Parts: sequence; C-alpha cells; structure tokens
Amino acid sequence: MGQIAENIAKIHEKMDAAAKRAGRDPKEVQLIVVSKTIDVDRIKEAVACGEVHLGENKVQEIMDKYEPMGPGIHWHLIGHLQTNKVKYIIDKVDMIHSVDSFHLAQEISKRAVQKGVTMDILLEINMAQEESKFGLAADETEDLVRQIAVLPGIRIRGLMTVAPFVEDPQENRPVFRKMKELLVDINAKKIDNVSMDVLSMGMTNDYEVAIEEGATMIRVGTAVFGARVYPNKN
Ligand SMILES: *Cc1c(COP(=O)(O)O)cnc(C)c1O
Repeated sequence: MGQIAENIAKIHEKMDAAAKRAGRDPKEVQLIVVSKTIDVDRIKEAVACGEVHLGENKVQEIMDKYEPMGPGIHWHLIGHLQTNKVKYIIDKVDMIHSVDSFHLAQEISKRAVQKGVTMDILLEINMAQEESKFGLAADETEDLVRQIAVLPGIRIRGLMTVAPFVEDPQENRPVFRKMKELLVDINAKKIDNVSMDVLSMGMTNDYEVAIEEGATMIRVGTAVFGARVYPNKN
C-alpha cells in the first residue's frame, strides 16, 4: 500500500473510533480530502482509495485541476470566495463552504439561476472571533440565514468553521460544541426553506474532537498528503 492509501486508511480508523465514542454512526461523517497545492497525480492516488470529495481553497486551483481530474469528483470550495469569481465555479463545485455575506450569496444565487442549478452552501462562522479569520460572528448568523433563505438557486445546508490553530485539540472542543448549538438553535426557529444538516469542522489537528462534537464533514489535507510545500514566490 502506498503512503497516501495508508494515511487514508488510518484516518478512517480514527474517524470511526471518534464517531463511536460519541455514539454516532460513522457513516454520518464525510471525509473531504483537502488537495490544495497537491498535484493531480497524487490527488488521483487518494481518489483511487475511493475519496471523491475534494476540498480546494482557491478558485484558480479548481479551474486548473477540474479537467485533469476528470468526472466523478465532488469539489468543495472551502476558502474565501470573491464575488467576481463565482461565475467560474458555479457549475463545477458541489458545495461552497465559505459564504459569509449577503452580497456573496446574492451573486451565487444569480449565477446559479442563470445556469439552472441549485448551489449548496454553508455559512462560515468565525466562532473563536479571531481577527485574522473570515466568517460571521455567531450572533449575525440567524439574520443572514433569513436573508439568504428567500433567494432562488441557493440552499443553505449548514455551517462551517476554521477553528484556531492550537497545540492541544481539546482546546477547540468548546468551539465545535458552540457550532453544533448554533446549528440546532437556528433549525429550531423553523425558518421557511431552512433545515441545516451539515457541520463542516475539523482539520488534521482536531478532526477527532470535531467528530465527537458533531461534525458531519471534516476537511483534512496534511494527514492525507503530508506537509504542504508552497511554491516559492520571488
Ligand atoms: C488547508 C485547509 C484545511 C486542511 O488543513 P490540514 O491542517 O492540512 O488538514 C481545511 N480547511 C480549510 C479551510 C483549509 O484552508
């Protein structure tokens, strides 16, 4: 077995164990393999293991890899999305995890209607209120959900967060727990057209804790491919 296949098998073991510890069905949790900076040949090794949900944080990288990766891939845009780039990915990605403004949602709605598709989105929450991060404050979320819920061509499937980088993943447990509470709270409002079932949270460092706290999608790159090497920008 190659290194990537070995890594993936190990991740699934840990995912299953974490789900079971929390009394959850392991099938409720989808692994999204984060393939940013990774070349197509190595990504294909992951796909050969059955991993067809890929996460990228840049529109350009999805554009570059879309044709070479071929059909059957479910692309997830997990990074910040500029309004003027929505048109490039509207018919390529299955889900946009990083919606954090009404303006962006309006553009997604407009482009989706033009293409005759419905785009699944998540609202990105900056639950730990880090200065450096994109995302909404928890207390802005309900209002934005109500605004987006009436737009055509767009469906709010749930919430996403990028938790702080911490040494001990247990430190992020309260962040993940609050994400779950926010999802439950908003569902309880019974807003028309809104029934959220996706919680995208947990990365290489903390996905087991995220699963214990209710994640339904985890986004994992380093644990699959090893440390990323960013090209030198001179
Ligand atoms: C890069 C990235 C990940 C994956 O991070 P790893 O620590 O390599 O698993 C997950 N989510 C987002 C939004 C990312 O940009």
